[in-house]
Amino acid sequence: MDWNELASSVLAGKKITEQEAMNILSCPDIEILALLNAAYTIRHHYYGNKVKLNMIINTKSGFCSENCGYCSQSRDSSAPIQKYRMMDKDSIIEGAERAHKLNSGTYCIVASGRGPTTRELNQVTSAVLEIKNKYNLTVCACLGILKPGQAKQLKDAGVDRYNHNINTSENHHEQITTSHTYQDRVNTVNEAKRVGISPCSGVIVGMKESKLDVIQMANALRELDADSIPVNFLHAIDGTALEGTDELTPLYCLKVLALFRFINPSKEIRISGGREVNLRSLQPFGLFAANSIFIGDYLTTDGQEGTKDHQMLIDLGFEVDYETSEMPI
Ligand code: SF4
Repeated sequence: MDWNELASSVLAGKKITEQEAMNILSCPDIEILALLNAAYTIRHHYYGNKVKLNMIINTKSGFCSENCGYCSQSRDSSAPIQKYRMMDKDSIIEGAERAHKLNSGTYCIVASGRGPTTRELNQVTSAVLEIKNKYNLTVCACLGILKPGQAKQLKDAGVDRYNHNINTSENHHEQITTSHTYQDRVNTVNEAKRVGISPCSGVIVGMKESKLDVIQMANALRELDADSIPVNFLHAIDGTALEGTDELTPLYCLKVLALFRFINPSKEIRISGGREVNLRSLQPFGLFAANSIFIGDYLTTDGQEGTKDHQMLIDLGFEVDYETSEMPI
């Protein structure tokens, strides 16, 4: 397979075929640098050597009615996580201060649960109004399935982006959760889009899905026209339904990132949860396909220190995609 030729055809506006997508996921390990070089040609065309940084705050942890098999906060999980109700407004604003200090361009306000109650939504929107006045941050909310009118309330408060992951393919969805449908998730992404909020939707790879499922996920997000695509790699947590699942290798993770770049060439592709444990020493290579990472911790698992992430970008010769940033070491 001539990877550079494939990248050129993507840059010329052609969609790759299912067979070409399968070839990417089945790329011989010896060709990984050639594949990443081609993915980088596409990534560089849209983003140069810039990397977007995102910081998450988990404003409510545990107490969820849903049964997502990967999630330590699910009703069926026995993982010993910290559980707490929705944080107060001041704590959400303090999180924005931390994001600002980490030079993160995006602050992601996340809460566990099927969807926000009116009280929870009011708490988030009152915090967002202040955050948008105080900091030059993109604010992303990730609060679950939205009821009518809730997306508009977020938009009016200044929320720039709404994250709701499709997580897996439509076919595989019931293997992961039965308490809500794939379509529920798609509806929320479309509702955010409808009110003018930038849609963010991504996946979790490594949940016993097939390669074809991974290709279908990348194509589904292309159809949804998600502006930002977090690609998580399963970090199986003890006490969850997927405990003990360990299917990924660092090289396969790189092929997945390349696939998402080839199928969603102009979109923000973010290496998300599970980056450190699954890509391990190959983390820097991921940024030749992806152009975005989380900095700091994830929802219930630790990330590597922010200083190490900044150092990784410096070592790669990449720059933070945030005009007011200076890189602290
Ligand atoms: S992913 Fe969200 S909806 Fe699913 S169990 Fe976890 S907190 Fe609940």
